[in-house]
Amino acid sequence: MRSFGVNSRLKPFGATIFAEMTALAVKHGALNLGQGAPDFDGPEFLKEAAIKAIRDRSGQYARMTGLPELTKAIVERFEKTSGLTYDAERDVVVTCGATEAILDCMLALLEPGDEVVLFEPFYDSYPASVVMAGGVAKIVTLEAPGFRVDEAALRAAITPKTRMLLVNSPHNPSGRILDDEERAAIVRVAVEFDLIVLSDEVYEELWYETRHRTLASEPGMRERTIVLGSLGKSFSFTGWKVGWAIAPAPLAAAVRSAHQFASFCAPTPLQAAAAVALTAPDAYYEEFRSEYRARRDRMVTGLRACGLSCEAPQGSYFVLANHGRFGFADDFAFCRHLVEHGGVAAIPPGAFYLNKAKAKSLVRIAFCKKDATIDGALERLSAYAARFGRGASSELKQEPARAPSL
Ligand code: PMP
Ligand code: GLN
Repeated sequence: MRSFGVNSRLKPFGATIFAEMTALAVKHGALNLGQGAPDFDGPEFLKEAAIKAIRDRSGQYARMTGLPELTKAIVERFEKTSGLTYDAERDVVVTCGATEAILDCMLALLEPGDEVVLFEPFYDSYPASVVMAGGVAKIVTLEAPGFRVDEAALRAAITPKTRMLLVNSPHNPSGRILDDEERAAIVRVAVEFDLIVLSDEVYEELWYETRHRTLASEPGMRERTIVLGSLGKSFSFTGWKVGWAIAPAPLAAAVRSAHQFASFCAPTPLQAAAAVALTAPDAYYEEFRSEYRARRDRMVTGLRACGLSCEAPQGSYFVLANHGRFGFADDFAFCRHLVEHGGVAAIPPGAFYLNKAKAKSLVRIAFCKKDATIDGALERLSAYAARFGRGASSELKQEPARAPSL
């Protein structure tokens, strides 16, 4: 009998770090600052809208492109934040989370062997999606500590086979928002080489001092850009898995060609609730942002007090901290030790890199958590620092480094 198992394209990716760290958090009874999932639910009015949709309307498939009221709400909200107009019937595809939209874009737009430029650190589904679609990922490193786009490095990654550039801002995991200079560099390269730009803007509502602006609003970009959004991020229901792609008609039609066979549609009642969500007044978003700003400040202050130095992120709900004072060989070793001996789960950002060594002194902490969870985790981190930090009575034990390869 043959040995049945994952194919050679997917095998190198192993298990996603989110499943792994969440399982370790459960095993060790740790507070989970790893996976980017709030430990609170989104607004009650949305739950009510979903319940009402289950009760009152058909539980059958939604329209393949997305419920009409949702695609309308998506373009209206996007017009409000970007000033750009899109056609709700033609230019939107509702998917099972942005994760499906990413894969749909690759499946629909790449020919075998086409290259996609990804910036590392990257959300871990990006390279896997490229590879599943038969493409080739070309990696450009955003060098720590600035995590800025370097135009020369970007240009060096472009070849005649480059078809697409994937950009994520606000950025997971660094929390950076692209500045004007970086945006201009991306536009120059995308236009010069006639690339499709997949702009992952799932953290579009999670900006603090610097306002997020869509890349699609730059000159020459609208016609080549697919913008991704996610209800999970903006309304704290990650498990509802409602996401979307907005793009001019030819690109949207291509994405739809893959979506119709990947999932056909996202769950109907949750789409109905998402339509209600996206018509929320500005006050919702203002409160959402100010709550997150407070969580960010609480976390950053606390991490610094534990000797985990970090910059306050400009956007997203992640902070990258430096764990150097604990003396571990790398980020995987630190996170494994911390979850077991410190009772706090975090993400080793090496999972977001091809060049894993670049992340070895970093740890990603999620602050989409209740104040009580943040405070509890900070207390645990402080006790951990007293026990294992440099200068503490070193009980520290070096764990063998694990470096999964992509
Ligand atoms: N892009 C980025 C950068 C993310 O962090 C996430 C997190 N899940 C996603 C896409 C996927 O979003 P969704 O949960 O809607 O699939
Ligand atoms: N995007 C989330 C994160 O970065 C998690 C997504 C997932 O669990 N697949 O933490």
